[in-house]
Amino acid sequence: MSEIKLIREDGRRLDGRLPEELRPIKIEVGVLKRADGSCYFELGRNKVVAAVYGPRELHPRHAQDARRAAVRFRYNMAPFSVEERRRPGPDRRSVEISKVSREALEPVIIAEYYPRAAIDIFVEILESDAGTRTAGINAASVALADAGIPMKGLVSAVAVGKVDGQIVLDLMSEEDQYGEMDMPVAMVTRTNTITLLQMDGRVTMEEFDRALDLAIAGCRRIYELQRKALIEKYSESRAEEGGV
Ligand code: UDP
Repeated sequence: MSEIKLIREDGRRLDGRLPEELRPIKIEVGVLKRADGSCYFELGRNKVVAAVYGPRELHPRHAQDARRAAVRFRYNMAPFSVEERRRPGPDRRSVEISKVSREALEPVIIAEYYPRAAIDIFVEILESDAGTRTAGINAASVALADAGIPMKGLVSAVAVGKVDGQIVLDLMSEEDQYGEMDMPVAMVTRTNTITLLQMDGRVTMEEFDRALDLAIAGCRRIYELQRKALIEKYSESRAEEGGV
């Protein structure tokens, strides 16, 4: 158990949430003019932008795959996005997050339609408060759809964890730092396929099952918000085209 109390007497967390509650979410589609697809995603105090470019010709040419498009993903934390200014540029953590985020999204992208091409996904973390990799995957998934990339479904992601002996949804910074377990999960909600599952900490099998159920329920809620944001954007642009 942690020294710091993360669950209050009334059963609520330090920010007033119940164990199974998500932080407030805001999604905006198509925020960047020069990207083929983009999305701004807020999850509590996390602020994240995803930009998608492509399908476009892949350079260098010797890296092209004649059977499919290459999906590339770069996660980057702005130096000012964290409490203590970080050195700009990639580090071990961002290389790892870029890899697992790409693997979380690749199963839904129909890359075979675009041989020799590249689909580039950039995620920029502007402000962070734990859960940035999941916020980045959510943003990237919406940005891919906004770019018109053919997909088998949207990917939704959220972290679950254990704090003060309780399984809770969507860890904020204090819970991530002082809690007993942190488990980011991404899934294709339509097919119920988990595409990312990491875990830092220890839990019993029962607790793991509970945590996974909670993550799946959280992903479903996020999926609905992603879907709604995309529908809103495209009904708006259709209305504009029609001169309404
Ligand atoms: N963090 C930080 N400096 C760093 C890396 C992370 O302050 O160099 C903070 C940041 O707020 C991040 C949190 O620690 O959101 C948790 O980081 P973690 O590696 O668990 O990834 P995340 O939960 O953001 O996916």
